[in-house]
Amino acid sequence: MKVDPVRDADVVIVGAGPAGSALAMMLGRSGCSAILLDRAVFPRDKVCGEGLMPAGVEVLAGLGMACDEFQNLGGVTYRVPGAGSARGLFMNGSGGRGVRRFRFDQLMAEGAAATPGVQARFGCAANGIEHAGGGVVVKTASGDVTANYAVGADGLRSRVARWMGWSRAPRKPYRFAFAGHVAAPRHGLDRVVVTLLDRCEVYAAPTQPDELLIAVLGTKDALRREGETVREAYARRVSAAHPEAAVSPGTAVHGAGPFWVRPSSVAGRGVFLVGDAAGFLDPLTGDGMSDGLVAARRLAEIISSKRPEPERAYRRWEAGQWRRRVLVNRLALTLTGSSLLARRALRRLQQRPSTLDRLLQVNDGSQSLWSLSWRDWSALVGI
Ligand SMILES: Cc1cc2nc3c(=O)[nH]c(=O)nc-3n(C[C@H](O)[C@H](O)[C@H](O)COP(=O)(O)OP(=O)(O)OC[C@H]3O[C@@H](n4cnc5c(N)ncnc54)[C@H](O)[C@@H]3O)c2cc1C
Repeated sequence: MKVDPVRDADVVIVGAGPAGSALAMMLGRSGCSAILLDRAVFPRDKVCGEGLMPAGVEVLAGLGMACDEFQNLGGVTYRVPGAGSARGLFMNGSGGRGVRRFRFDQLMAEGAAATPGVQARFGCAANGIEHAGGGVVVKTASGDVTANYAVGADGLRSRVARWMGWSRAPRKPYRFAFAGHVAAPRHGLDRVVVTLLDRCEVYAAPTQPDELLIAVLGTKDALRREGETVREAYARRVSAAHPEAAVSPGTAVHGAGPFWVRPSSVAGRGVFLVGDAAGFLDPLTGDGMSDGLVAARRLAEIISSKRPEPERAYRRWEAGQWRRRVLVNRLALTLTGSSLLARRALRRLQQRPSTLDRLLQVNDGSQSLWSLSWRDWSALVGI
């Protein structure tokens, strides 16, 4: 791609989280120039369940990032106290990873900054977008950045989406999360464990040999009792689901939400959204990072191929991804939202574990929804 002589780069990317950094690396490698902006300096933390699904590990392998320093994840276990558990396996060779975001995002941002063709500006917030001379202008405190295209990779409450007039309010019922890193000496966990408690879910992923990331998910009234502090509510749920883990006075507990946010468009007039900026459903399915990485790969292919109407191509591809994600999320929330349905599904999935293996593949996009047979569906609805 040729940069217009009066423009600073082919593409300006707002946000150097996993999606923005991966996109910058891929564009740089395909011969495009990119300016990568982030208001934060790295390392910085991000509230997350820190379970990277296999599709994301595969995208990183394509970038030459081995992820060896992170904990392996072999699958996901769902359990209901008193009703047992069902184990699903990640069927591809590389499995998933428990990625400490403080470290992982730093590796991604540094990888992007070191890629030829990428100019990284961290500690530099974008303040607005304008269109001029057939290109885009991103406003920052240290001056304007001009490019052929702009990408909003700026997370859940995307400013880029707002500047484009695409923002929409989160959908009800509003769900929230409390998350923290909790000491769990020699936990031996090599998978994500989702425990369904009364009206909330506890999601745990190993991030160190002696540490778990534990997120508690639910509606506001389900998460906290009257008069309870966030820490007390979090500790109560963590000890119910993981008595082996200890919430100490030093454990930092962060809140996030509400979720289920979807802008009215993800591409138009030379501007694209990727990662959470393009929509985020619910942390329960743990697919946010891997979906963002897969979308970054597709967007880099579309932009670097110089095809006409790249916005249209991306919108069409992304709509298919979103449909799949919505279906899997709705299924997960329906099952976890009813103790009766959850127990019935769990019983059937214990008898038919291959259904859960396949559902995990659908969740991370490596299999289509059509790969689920009627036997799988009947197991999921517990009949
Ligand atoms: C409680 C919880 C649990 C989760 N669990 C999981 C899980 O287990 N697995 C999983 O895959 N996903 C999980 N997710 C989702 C995951 O965290 C997100 O999908 C992922 O971080 C999205 O990456 P991103 O690159 O799109 O955005 P982000 O990681 O949010 O990065 C956005 C970047 O944009 C920058 N930025 C924002 N505004 C501006 C601006 N104006 N100018 C410049 N820079 C800006 C920010 O500083 C930030 O660095 C979870 C989320 C939550 C809340």
